[in-house]
Amino acid sequence: MILPPVRYVRPQSVAEAASLLAAIDGAAVLAGGQTMINALKLDLVQPTALVDVHRLEELRGIEVADDGSLVIGAATTYAEIAASPVVRHHQPSVADMAAGLVDRQVRNRGTIGGNCCLNDPTNNFPPLLTALGAWFHITSTAGWRSITADTLFAGSLATALRPGELLMSVRLKPLPEGTRIVHRHLQLAADSWALARVVVRLDVIDGRVEDARVVLGAVPGSPLRLATVEQALLGHPADTRLTDAALTAFDEADVETVGDAHASAAYRLEMTRVQLRRALDDAVERSVAA
Ligand SMILES: Cc1cc2nc3c(=O)[nH]c(=O)nc-3n(C[C@H](O)[C@H](O)[C@H](O)COP(=O)(O)OP(=O)(O)OC[C@H]3O[C@@H](n4cnc5c(N)ncnc54)[C@H](O)[C@@H]3O)c2cc1C
Repeated sequence: MILPPVRYVRPQSVAEAASLLAAIDGAAVLAGGQTMINALKLDLVQPTALVDVHRLEELRGIEVADDGSLVIGAATTYAEIAASPVVRHHQPSVADMAAGLVDRQVRNRGTIGGNCCLNDPTNNFPPLLTALGAWFHITSTAGWRSITADTLFAGSLATALRPGELLMSVRLKPLPEGTRIVHRHLQLAADSWALARVVVRLDVIDGRVEDARVVLGAVPGSPLRLATVEQALLGHPADTRLTDAALTAFDEADVETVGDAHASAAYRLEMTRVQLRRALDDAVERSVAA
């Protein structure tokens, strides 16, 4: 497949990138290009120009803020995140997610910002960052703002980003002691889309669930928080009965799944249930072991 002709610009700063995005009607951000280039070849998108931010130093890198939050630049690649001892120490689930993503080629080019701004329902990071309660720092010629994951992710392939806005960084506050994060997913091959994805977060204090987040991927509206399942977990002792309580709530939640050439809707629903059960069992096991 041949790329259609498209204007390409490489700004030298975030300010210049924001100016270009504001000045060129229909311009799009290019980060790792792992989705954008394929979408261009398939004529799924028709930007008037590509504003390449992949090498902007201001968008790259990993640091710990004064309040202990982990801040990851939007153009930081999966490979850089996976290799970072800082991420491993502060948010091990993020390091694991980056290390397990697709293959070496995609990990070397793809960025956490691109993953979030695309918000494909099968993408890895949106459900995890929703469970972690991430904040997103966004800039444009109009100024900057910070929004939560619950706000940024606005449904499949949709975000709250406005035209001309650039995602700068992802910010993750330290997790309370006693928090367990478990990610489970099912995919047919390393480079195929997930059929089911579940992220469970349990904040356990004195053997009880103080707070819970249960987030699905690979379903319509991903990342999808299951409020009734979270409610069923609140205050529950962190033991094996917790899984039964959550699965009962899951069965009553009428989760929608979609069938396609890879799997039927019923199979995806059942596999989502299986991933949820495994994630909860794992979270409980880790709580007991801690
Ligand atoms: C074979 C293959 C398999 C894959 N499998 C998976 C998988 O299993 N799970 C998964 O999560 N991903 C998967 N991907 C997608 C991959 O993770 C992409 O890297 C990701 O979706 C987009 O990141 P990117 O940096 O390449 O962004 P790009 O492709 O450059 O951009 C993606 C979108 O985000 C926008 N964007 C990017 N950065 C910013 C920013 N800073 N501010 C505003 N908008 C921005 C772009 O304008 C574009 O709309 C796969 C890709 C390939 C090629």
